[in-house]
Amino acid sequence: MTAAGDTALGLYLAVPFCRSKCTYCNFASQVFAPARYAEYCELLARELALAAADGLAGATLTSIYWGGGTPTLLPAAGFARILQAIGDHFTLAPGLEHTVEAAPGTLPPERLDALAAGGVNRLSLGVQSFADAELRAVVRLHRAATARDDLARARAAGIANLNLDLIAGLPHQTESSWQATLDAALEAEVAHVSVYMLEVDDDSRLGAEVLASGSRYHAAAVPGDDFIAAAYELACERLEAAGIRQYEISNFARPGGESRHNLGYWLRRPYLGAGLDAHSFLTAPRPRRFANPDTLEAYLAPLRAGRLPRSAPTWLTPQAEREERYFLGLRRNAGVGMPHEPDEATQAAAAAQHLADGLLERRHGGIALSAQGRLLANRVLADFLETPLALS
Ligand code: SF4
Repeated sequence: MTAAGDTALGLYLAVPFCRSKCTYCNFASQVFAPARYAEYCELLARELALAAADGLAGATLTSIYWGGGTPTLLPAAGFARILQAIGDHFTLAPGLEHTVEAAPGTLPPERLDALAAGGVNRLSLGVQSFADAELRAVVRLHRAATARDDLARARAAGIANLNLDLIAGLPHQTESSWQATLDAALEAEVAHVSVYMLEVDDDSRLGAEVLASGSRYHAAAVPGDDFIAAAYELACERLEAAGIRQYEISNFARPGGESRHNLGYWLRRPYLGAGLDAHSFLTAPRPRRFANPDTLEAYLAPLRAGRLPRSAPTWLTPQAEREERYFLGLRRNAGVGMPHEPDEATQAAAAAQHLADGLLERRHGGIALSAQGRLLANRVLADFLETPLALS
């Protein structure tokens, strides 16, 4: 074990491959020929070896999270190769949370068995909606029935800790179709639900089209901001009433079902990200963030030459750490302590302003976003930054 680096951390593994590109997606994922998967897995395994040699050898992994993209597209041999590299270079914590994101329809029995045999104990299913017309409109390839089947078969394969992702604001969504989606999510009796509000920005085809008033990707059928906010609030109410409690702006869980890996992001615990466009936060010997390239060739080329592909680290100043504590910590319903240090004047002013306007409220002796504040979270959180963000 090295003395220089973090000795306990989460591991994020990015798999950028998808069967189709969803119109709302702004991730660095693409449809690549399956012939490229094997080299990607081999070089991701190499990245893990290089990262271990760079100060993390033997570190204990407290969580593993495969995201993307669609990690369940990987062939069994590629999945096994990466698991082998993890086992070769890191130690697995007892009771490790091991999550894989999956698109419904990419979980044939042999893949589910391979995941379970590889130690995966949590599955995050990108359901998005239980209304087939909404799924079709955004080029999701699965249907509601596919998601229901996958949930049943995941349980049968022994993976009982399940999350469903839902999106409020898909094209053609109506109040009754959203109610039906929430009904189905509750009937699924999963431990965890994530609810995202559709993002309208230039980074996805659908978002760009909404901004440009185009018609190819059903932009005209995207509900308005008021509908999306109401749909989000309805989800909060219905999940809460069913005992699936909100613990972060977009995340809801039954007691004990919270995502430990994602909690680490908001609590600023160290994590290593490997794969295309993966980001890392390491804290020893000093806190720093760095990221991998977001195009496939720029990621693979350094690894072929035996080098880590990551950017130069950004070393966090005391100001940056202070900002992150509030910017990330306030995402959690548990909130953060009231700012009171002499160097927290910006945060104290933001807290006072938003307690007065009702976007923050007192909780557990500290401060947390109110229900209204969660709808305007970007604006509220930006006020805790000492260097203003350019918000659109
Ligand atoms: S499956 Fe997920 S990562 Fe892939 S295109 Fe759709 S939203 Fe993006």
